[in-house]
Amino acid sequence: MSIKERVIVAYARTKLSSRKVGEDVENPLHDWVQLKVRETFKHDEEFRRVLGKKSLDKIDREVFEQYQLHKFRKQMAYVMENSHYYKKKYGEAGIAPDMIRTMGDLDRVPLTEPADLAEEPYYFLCPSQSKIARTFSTSGTTGKNKRLFYTKDDLFNIIDSIAAALRSAGLKSNETLQIMFPAVVAWDPSLMLESACKVAGLKSVVCSAVDVDEQMRSVKDNQTKVIIGLTSFIYRITVMARDKFDLRSFGLKAIICSSEPLSEAVRREMEDAWGCKCLSQYGMTEMGLATAIECYAQTGLHINEADFLVEVIDPDTGKRLPPGEEGELVWTALSFQGSPLLRYRSYDISKFILPPCDCGHITIGKMGKPKGRRDAATKIGLGDRIFPVLFDEAIMNVKGVLNYQLVIDKPSFRDRLRFTVEYNGNEATGKDEVMAAILELEPIKIGLENDLLEPIEVEMKEVSKEFSPKMKPIVDRRQSYDR
Ligand SMILES: [Zn+2]
Repeated sequence: MSIKERVIVAYARTKLSSRKVGEDVENPLHDWVQLKVRETFKHDEEFRRVLGKKSLDKIDREVFEQYQLHKFRKQMAYVMENSHYYKKKYGEAGIAPDMIRTMGDLDRVPLTEPADLAEEPYYFLCPSQSKIARTFSTSGTTGKNKRLFYTKDDLFNIIDSIAAALRSAGLKSNETLQIMFPAVVAWDPSLMLESACKVAGLKSVVCSAVDVDEQMRSVKDNQTKVIIGLTSFIYRITVMARDKFDLRSFGLKAIICSSEPLSEAVRREMEDAWGCKCLSQYGMTEMGLATAIECYAQTGLHINEADFLVEVIDPDTGKRLPPGEEGELVWTALSFQGSPLLRYRSYDISKFILPPCDCGHITIGKMGKPKGRRDAATKIGLGDRIFPVLFDEAIMNVKGVLNYQLVIDKPSFRDRLRFTVEYNGNEATGKDEVMAAILELEPIKIGLENDLLEPIEVEMKEVSKEFSPKMKPIVDRRQSYDR
């Protein structure tokens, strides 16, 4: 590190709350969130006034929701003052921050559509461009790029939350995090993770090699204790490596699966192979990626609720749903300054789970495992909408399966389902097992019984040398008027 870099890192460290959370506390993420609320209480007179308290001893859910509402009002005032988009949108809706007193009042605040962000990203920019330290671009489904702007403080904030989350996964200061995202990923999360580790005083190594031996050498040489990376990428390495290496002997503490859903079938296989917990992480790109991570209880993903307010809405009516009910997740960035999004539609289907959690969290809630994007759901036969996750659980459960793709078309009056499965092992037995697993699924059974589906087709494919992330699990080639 150059002197300049060292000065920057030293300065950044003084700003991190995660550094103030002791290394051996039982639940670092929980203590970190509590610390953030206490810091706000200490420095923000308005918050003390809202709570009507001079001192803060216990932070229960009620106090915590007051903290979130306070941050929401402040953020709303900030964007109405600084962002062209919100000035106009909220002005036209005739709403003001002081109208938001309870969580129920949030229904009055119009939702933000991803298409608006893709259309005019600069309408969301709040400070002058000279204050922007980094810009992230994400490709939207419409082909237009969404752009998000982050100030230096925003980046520290993200780094801080990543550090708290990594500590919660069990990583200690003298231990190494192995970062495994393939180099082909469009936006490289490795950079952010690497700097988070550097600032937070954790060790890290980036290894994006597709070569299994090289990955294992890195685990061994660096005495890696936690792995984080693209779900399908880590899974692929696991399947290819487990026959050659005794993976359990490496003594990993945890594997964090990021950027893609983690099916229970894949989780079981990886936990079995490595002998450690496999945790799912959910990153919303528009919220800076570090948004939710599973704890050891594995009953949902803890949201960084100190920096994000998450609601669940009925996707058709836009109305808020109570905790526990399934709907679309809606996110508000409570702390960002660059281009914060309020009540931003994710199109992801899940639910909100109130604390407490078995891991000891009493303040922050969880989101259920995301079921998939609302627009990724497909109807087959005349049945209900089904999510790709249904096939994930069935097909990935077959040992040796690395990936699959389903192409749906409609050559006659029946839907035709053709699966291509990337597989490592004896193809004939693999094919039988995959076929059996698919035929067990209820919507398939019903479709076949009622003559709404053509016979299912399964084609097995050898493992390819290249790794292609985000192979679309379902390709729908049917023509339809209602889509
Ligand atoms: Zn928990």
